[in-house]
Amino acid sequence: MNKNCIKVEKLSKNFINNKVVVNVLNNLNLNLETGKIIALVGPSGSGKSTLLHLLALLDKPTNGKITILGEPTQNITENKRNQLIRNHISIIFQNNNLLLDFTAVENVAMPLIIRNKNYNSSIKEAESYLRKVNLGHRLNHFPSDLSGGEQQRVAIARSLINNPDLILADEMTGNLDEYTAKEIFDFFLNFIKSSNKSLIFVTHNKNFSRQAEENYIISNKMLKK
Ligand code: ADP
Ligand code: MG
Repeated sequence: MNKNCIKVEKLSKNFINNKVVVNVLNNLNLNLETGKIIALVGPSGSGKSTLLHLLALLDKPTNGKITILGEPTQNITENKRNQLIRNHISIIFQNNNLLLDFTAVENVAMPLIIRNKNYNSSIKEAESYLRKVNLGHRLNHFPSDLSGGEQQRVAIARSLINNPDLILADEMTGNLDEYTAKEIFDFFLNFIKSSNKSLIFVTHNKNFSRQAEENYIISNKMLKK
């Protein structure tokens, strides 16, 4: 296995707003070893989500290099990029992004179904992941009939079903009450710790960030420990 999950070199990202260039990240470097857990903190608007989107290959840097599992990504084909995402990377959002017209089990099975895996076996697999997140009794519920915490458990199961090497979690408990947030976070972190996956999670909760092996803050458009 590749020792380096992510290597980021001199990463910069600009957005153009009303013809004005806004520089959000500037000359940012990061090394994430396989199996490491990193917390990312920083004030609202500092570029945390921008960074996670770039690492998830959902957006392209203005400058700099991102290497994922030894694969340089700056000049890869669309096809190769999609393969890297599907086989190795998962992102979890604050607002779980579940598909409202599909049941819990269908949502979780979706990453397999879009990879053309057999429908029935994808559903079976999704059921077993929902049981792992203690939702075996909610398989056929639609997202609107689940609580916020349950919806986020579905999103977690969906993010794990591809067996990703890298998980990026963007304020995943930010919409939940304190008690549910802790319950979901503890469950999620224990699962990740027992699985040798690499994780970067964004949080404003100090009790959560101190459980990471390393803490980074985005400051001055760069990462600092
Ligand atoms: P954080 O997640 O730390 O709150 P973001 O990464 O969402 O911050 O945003 C960082 C900055 O980049 C903000 O000033 C935001 O307005 C700007 N920004 C983010 N996405 C875009 C976009 N697609 N177009 C223009 N500006 C953006
Ligand atoms: Mg954000």
